[in-house]
Amino acid sequence: MPELPEVETVANGVHARVAGQRIVGVWTSGKSLTFKSPEAEIVETLTGARIEKVRRVGKTIVMDLSRGKTSGSQFLVHLGMTGRLLVSAPEVPMPLHTHAVLSLADSREVRFVDPRRFGKLSVVKEEGGYTGPGKEPTTISAGEFAKLFKGRKLAIKAALLNQSILHGVGNIYADESLFRAGIRPRKQAGKLTKAELARLHPALQEVLAKAIQLGGSSVSDYVDADGVRGFFQLEHKVYGRAGENCKDCTSPLKNIVVGGRTTVYCPKCQR
Ligand SMILES: [Zn+2]
Repeated sequence: MPELPEVETVANGVHARVAGQRIVGVWTSGKSLTFKSPEAEIVETLTGARIEKVRRVGKTIVMDLSRGKTSGSQFLVHLGMTGRLLVSAPEVPMPLHTHAVLSLADSREVRFVDPRRFGKLSVVKEEGGYTGPGKEPTTISAGEFAKLFKGRKLAIKAALLNQSILHGVGNIYADESLFRAGIRPRKQAGKLTKAELARLHPALQEVLAKAIQLGGSSVSDYVDADGVRGFFQLEHKVYGRAGENCKDCTSPLKNIVVGGRTTVYCPKCQR
């Protein structure tokens, strides 16, 4: 499942390849699960538009579009579990499970491929640009970050995953940042001390920045036409390591469920 760093890597890679291009034609598969906006509306919004920018908002890839002198529409791509956004030469055979093809003026194609179809495509028109449901974790200030959790009764792990509070943080980076900050995942968000918040903010931003940096170095694996390799895996300290020993203190890592999600933590390092 692509998380924030992978989505950012894909968005940056697609941006580098297609910014400034005009979309001259759009094909969609007719598989309704994939389309959150009516396909006809997606085709109409994209056809003839210029791609100004491709960027990440939360875990969504946003393609900012303009038409003549008017700007304001956005094409939103959510990769879901298995979605990929590829930039291909037209002669590259169409992969199975392709659900949308944007033909560009220079004849290349942007293809959305998604075998399991949890990915979603839609168009929106937000004045001032699409900003998403929550705050951006990679740029939020320490002060604003602390305010997000004030008075919240849910577990800090669940708060980190709540997309209307912070958008884009998934299970891997929630567990990894809580480990690095030495905080128990079940601790009530509103009860985090100033010191804990002061550790969690940089821990989360560092984990995300590191993963973006590492993912970014292999960007062609994601978006070029033959991109079939998996996503970069951060050197995980806890995620996916339940029952194994903590890399810092050698205690066995514990596995619990918080907010419906598998959660791994070290009972000794996280208090
Ligand atoms: Zn430990």
